[in-house]
Amino acid sequence: SELPGPAPIRRLQESLINRIAAGEIIHRPASALKELLENSLDAGATTIRVTVKDGGLKLLQIQDNGSGIRRSDLPILAERFTTSKLTTFSDLTKLTTYGFRGEALASISHVAYLSVVTKTRTSTCAYKALYSDGKLVPAQPGQSEEPKPCAGNDGTTITIENLFFNTPTRLSALRNTSEEYARILDVLTKYAIHNPKVSFMCKKAGSSSPDLSTPSASTTRHAIKMLYGPSIEKDLLQIAVNEDMKGEVSWSSEVYFTNVNYQAKKTILLLFINSRLVESTRIKRAIENVYTGILPKGVSPFVYLSLKIDPRSVDVNVHPTKKEVHFLNEEEITMQICDTLQAKIAEKSHSRVFEYQT
Ligand code: ADP
Ligand code: MG
Repeated sequence: SELPGPAPIRRLQESLINRIAAGEIIHRPASALKELLENSLDAGATTIRVTVKDGGLKLLQIQDNGSGIRRSDLPILAERFTTSKLTTFSDLTKLTTYGFRGEALASISHVAYLSVVTKTRTSTCAYKALYSDGKLVPAQPGQSEEPKPCAGNDGTTITIENLFFNTPTRLSALRNTSEEYARILDVLTKYAIHNPKVSFMCKKAGSSSPDLSTPSASTTRHAIKMLYGPSIEKDLLQIAVNEDMKGEVSWSSEVYFTNVNYQAKKTILLLFINSRLVESTRIKRAIENVYTGILPKGVSPFVYLSLKIDPRSVDVNVHPTKKEVHFLNEEEITMQICDTLQAKIAEKSHSRVFEYQT
């Protein structure tokens, strides 16, 4: 018997290609939220309110009081590669965040129902627009897809409904809605600490009491205390490490970290590079190494590290969806920060011993 010949190669349908690409960027409700949060912060919001139903799968809504979006920009808002943050190639090397270069809203519109209500300061009314597959769509079949004037406050409200309704395998992998909600709260907690001047609020739809709420005009230290419990404050140390070299890569960092008396079960690491929440196995390992010799077994620290580096030193070839991040002089920078951190912990535990002796 003969083997069957090769199957013919066919081009995937455009809509399927878009859905697959979107899934690479939007993994779960918390990754959609992270994109929306950064958009609100980029728009200068000082208040951000999040409403969630079924772990963000049924509903994920974020309301901000930022700049709003002009009526004339709404038709292309959810198209791929449409952005107000980048116009020339040289801008790319100056980017201070690892934003998605105009891909976030587009991606979301391919895997969910997306609606936007927005009002700029100078507009007399708000506008509501609905999107699907990157384009404006009418609210009802037969109606116009044009954005409709409506009442609304200054700022933008983005509503995502039925996330992953058209990608059933992704949806079935995310059945645990309380875990998804926990991830949403975790992302919000971290951004709230990094942006203590902004007031954040998060609640489940239909609930009157928020699960997370921070005041505006706060400080990093106060935000950490509010969100990780008041007992952390007395154990919280703080350093700033910078380097400025003439014409060379310069960087600065701010670190809040716990001393020997603090005992977490797992390492809590909040790592922001140029204000974007990222992960770095190398930095995490280096920090854990500092504490291994100091803390008893089974006990872990809390560390918030904000690192600002020259955007030119971030590897632009690293795909933005990769949470892992790499940058120039990573090893030296990590070492300098960890050395300073270690010295501070040592200094503080000495003075404690000294106090006890006197
Ligand atoms: P990017 O953030 O990379 O530009 P997005 O798809 O996340 O891409 O957003 C596209 C554009 O929509 C942004 O550049 C911005 O102009 C606008 N936008 C999105 N969200 C908001 C918001 N909350 N407030 C004001 N403008 C927004
Ligand atoms: Mg964005």
